Amino acid sequence: MSEATLSASQRLGFLNDDIQALKDAHLYQTLRTLQGPQDVECIIDGKKVINFSSNNYLGLTHHPALIEAAHRAIDTHGVGTASVRTIIGTMDIHQELERKLADFKHTEASLVLQSGFMANTAAITSILGEGDVILSDSLNHASIIDACRMMKQVPTKVYQHKEMNQLEDLLKETRHARRRLIVTDGVFSMDGDIAPLPDIVALAERYDAIVMVDDAHSSGVLGKNGRGSVSHFGLEGRVDIQIGTLSKAIGAMGGYVAGPEVLRNILINKARPFLFSTSHPPSVIMSCMAAIQLLESDTTLIDRLWENTRYFKAGMQRIGFQADSETPIVPVIAGSSEKAQRLSQRLFEEGIFGQAIVFPTVARDKARIRIIVTAAHTQAHLDQAIHTFEKLGKELAII
Ligand SMILES: *Cc1c(COP(=O)(O)O)cnc(C)c1O
Repeated sequence: MSEATLSASQRLGFLNDDIQALKDAHLYQTLRTLQGPQDVECIIDGKKVINFSSNNYLGLTHHPALIEAAHRAIDTHGVGTASVRTIIGTMDIHQELERKLADFKHTEASLVLQSGFMANTAAITSILGEGDVILSDSLNHASIIDACRMMKQVPTKVYQHKEMNQLEDLLKETRHARRRLIVTDGVFSMDGDIAPLPDIVALAERYDAIVMVDDAHSSGVLGKNGRGSVSHFGLEGRVDIQIGTLSKAIGAMGGYVAGPEVLRNILINKARPFLFSTSHPPSVIMSCMAAIQLLESDTTLIDRLWENTRYFKAGMQRIGFQADSETPIVPVIAGSSEKAQRLSQRLFEEGIFGQAIVFPTVARDKARIRIIVTAAHTQAHLDQAIHTFEKLGKELAII
């Protein structure tokens, strides 16, 4: 009787060792709570702060057009689909959004998945098989890495971040493979740098490889009307597979794969997240539709995003911080992990929310605050952040 009355927390008590190990390595995390919408001025754990850590590049998470679209969708289509896409979970609006995303990306077709994470899983696991090889940038997103790991019969060869000579060597080395897939983030999330897509495409064309770009941080940010890195470099028609997320700049939730019709059709038949997980609720689909409409009709928000980005970086460099990048993701280098964590804590106390990114996510001496500038920040928000960074940079002897 007594053995049978162990509580779940007793039975899972062994996990406390894992938790202690995480704490010892300074990797243990707890959740901060946002009270209210994902806005620039927000309340986190009861404290009013200016938010510099969300991926809400265009401020669309609470844009009136997206909210209204969600309300309308609930009235016309209800709150859920209660089915996977392949049974009875494909509504007219799912098809319409996919048509719209394909038009937006200038591809033949697209397919929406539950998230960007799932879009990467779906694409990589559905198109490759025995005899194929994946060539992957060392700083690619975790969802790409995990998708590659799922392909037990397909080796992944990792090239150092943006090292095109190494990529070429790998292409030569793997010339006897059946097919090669080169996969890269369009914008890398920790440094805010852009993949050398023209070089990657040129190599792929020379060595007959497939190219897949994950534009999670570039859609709504880079390229004409926010079409992403492929448009940014004028490479439309030369990148085979584009992954996008609907969860960042687009403001809602989801991911998609854009490319030729044949790709969409194979994913519909083979992608396990598509086949075995319920489709998006109508409200989310219609919010995404409204977001894409907004991007196509008006570049005001994207223009403001880039103006704000330039303004913030110039200000940070003027006060002596190393704060350089090619996109609205601005890594503000603090030095040691300890210093970055201390700076993040002090920023919070002073009303600025900027997340510390430390080893092992980045190099030991390059711990940083990752700032994401958005279109929704006002000049006053940016000035206040720069002013606070100046004060704390001096206080912590970083500048
Ligand atoms: C955020 C991100 C994803 C995951 O997208 P979700 O829609 O949040 O699942 C995938 N790839 C990259 C490069 C990302 O930055």
